[in-house]
Amino acid sequence: MQFDGQRALEIVRRLTVEVGCRFAGTDNERRAAEILRDEIAAHGYADARLDPFPIDLYEVADERLEVEGLGEVPCEGLLGSEDAPDGVSGPLVYVEGGEECHLGEHCRGAILLVNAELGRKIEAIRRWQPAGVVVLETTPHLNPRRHNIGHEARRRFGTLPAVRVRHDVTERLVGFRGRSARLSLRSTYRESQAYNVMAELPGTTHPDEIVVVCGHMDSTYDGPGTLDNAAGTAVVWELARVFRQLGSRRTLRFIAFSGEEQGLRGSIHYAKRLRKEDKEAKKDKNFVATGGKTELDRHRLVVNIDVQGALIASNGAWITGPKDLGAAVRLLAAESGPFFTVHEACYSSDNAPLSDAGVPAVSFGRGGPNNFYGHTDGDVFELCSAEGLEISGRFIQEYIRRYIASPAMLPFPREIPDEHAEHVKNYFKERFMLRLDEGVED
Ligand SMILES: [Zn+2]
Repeated sequence: MQFDGQRALEIVRRLTVEVGCRFAGTDNERRAAEILRDEIAAHGYADARLDPFPIDLYEVADERLEVEGLGEVPCEGLLGSEDAPDGVSGPLVYVEGGEECHLGEHCRGAILLVNAELGRKIEAIRRWQPAGVVVLETTPHLNPRRHNIGHEARRRFGTLPAVRVRHDVTERLVGFRGRSARLSLRSTYRESQAYNVMAELPGTTHPDEIVVVCGHMDSTYDGPGTLDNAAGTAVVWELARVFRQLGSRRTLRFIAFSGEEQGLRGSIHYAKRLRKEDKEAKKDKNFVATGGKTELDRHRLVVNIDVQGALIASNGAWITGPKDLGAAVRLLAAESGPFFTVHEACYSSDNAPLSDAGVPAVSFGRGGPNNFYGHTDGDVFELCSAEGLEISGRFIQEYIRRYIASPAMLPFPREIPDEHAEHVKNYFKERFMLRLDEGVED
């Protein structure tokens, strides 16, 4: 019984061609979740289910940018923008990356040209009350990624009308600074629901040791999200089929997370529930004294698979936890190939929320030149290859079989070295402006 690249490719096709864009909270994402649930159920996972969670769904339409002397400039509205159906106007002012040293009185009422992601800079930018912002795409030849004004940033700092323009427009636009411009867009927001999909293979001898094998199945707003990460999801689902036959001493919980592209929404939801239960249970001193273990305690490891499927690519493994997680990757790669580069760093994906809760993680990625199209409409099915899926799929299968499913004792202690824990904390602080151990109650 071996990982079959053709089977995995068929799942990729269903997600990216049959469904297409799978932005979390949309009907398409729900359809994809149902397809995945039915696929895994067909392999004998009777418990396959959708796990819903709330998500803020932003949509943008009718974005329009006009510049005096230049006419209409093609642009994409940023998700989470302020709604500006009647338009805002002001002179174009170029403020480099939007750092505070470039901001000032001259920004008031202006339309700012910013050559970087807004992120938390939106706080400083809004202080000068500009009319709007045009984010300049810094990568040539790339269709704009709509990106979010992050949920956390929006909630904390507010928002403003914002669009993004292609790199080739950028130079011209900056040449027209000082001229008057008008920006309009319709930005809507509603509360919606997204769905993680999960199914479990109970361990034969150690059912109380849970290893999560996961990948995110959602895409960004713009594209079909093929290499990132219909392909990784397909690898997880094909592994589920294979291990159903091979069996495992430990419990393998297969999860297709959603909302990853909007800030790890699905995995944060999953980890939060575990943390909340854990905190509740441990209020009872007796529970602790008698060696009681919560579901979170029983989580021993996360194997996360994000970015896969390209034939021309190289493999990486990102480790949060015992160094042996990485050593095992190196050993297996040296023995059988393919080559892997091992990084001791927090992979920016669904591994992070569980690692923040104390669960070690190894993340597998396979990236190449075509990942250039990630998060755009260019990340299409044609970039994915059965052979590419199989190269890393078979490696991960053997890694799981050898080090997780078969051994009498899991060779990786449930420990995260301080420096790795620091990576995770910093990752959340920098990227999301939040600490997950705060607000566990909500
Ligand atoms: Zn991804």
